[in-house]
Amino acid sequence: YPASQPIALQGAFAEHQVMLQKLSLKKRVVIVLIRQPEDLDKCDALIIPGGESTTIALLARLAGLLEPIREFLKTKPVWGTCAGAILLAQWVENAKKGGQELLGGISVTVERNGFGSQVESFEAPLEVEGLRESNRPFHGIFIRAPVVVNLKPSPTDPPIQIISRISASLLPASQTVIPPDEDDTDPRDPRTIVALRQGLHLLTTFHPELTKDDRFHEYFVRECVLPTLGSRSSSPA
Ligand code: GLN
Repeated sequence: YPASQPIALQGAFAEHQVMLQKLSLKKRVVIVLIRQPEDLDKCDALIIPGGESTTIALLARLAGLLEPIREFLKTKPVWGTCAGAILLAQWVENAKKGGQELLGGISVTVERNGFGSQVESFEAPLEVEGLRESNRPFHGIFIRAPVVVNLKPSPTDPPIQIISRISASLLPASQTVIPPDEDDTDPRDPRTIVALRQGLHLLTTFHPELTKDDRFHEYFVRECVLPTLGSRSSSPA
């Protein structure tokens, strides 16, 4: 059975827990909150919540979790939302003074607080490829969200699959990070990317855990976690 675990040091882990509980009957997900390295041994997958990326990294270092998570993500699926997305990126711009430790795992650069400080949050309907009932938009909640500024997979990295982009016309008027062009947003602009996958991992710059819609959690379990369990999930428990 997939055990999907929110890292429980700081941020919106309780909200992820609630979403996974909604799924647990249907998908038999076992939820473990991660506070120390031993907790990871029970897990098939990990969720890193939104919150404050520098604080989560600092607490993870103090808990001795940074290296174990870096090892974990070499073979097991990890999903980062917002601050978690920053931690999952390989490179970061606009890190706090004193720097920012990252876990890496997805070969992108993100700009912390990239949607600006004057507009700290906004919400927008998103189309997401592969989501259940994908004709119904997913409500994207962006809170001081990071912006994907470039994709830099090396030739040996798994390809990056973009599953959702935001159109500049959905951003608040004061928002200038993605300049609207004549025919709406340039579809190739990496800054329009708000959800992507690479290998086993999932990155969303917004917060599915702050909605009541469990489709993203279901997607992570179905698309990222279950395929890694293969023989184990079909053998008797
Ligand atoms: N701006 C925050 C950070 O740098 C992320 C905000 C969030 O997770 N809502 O960690």
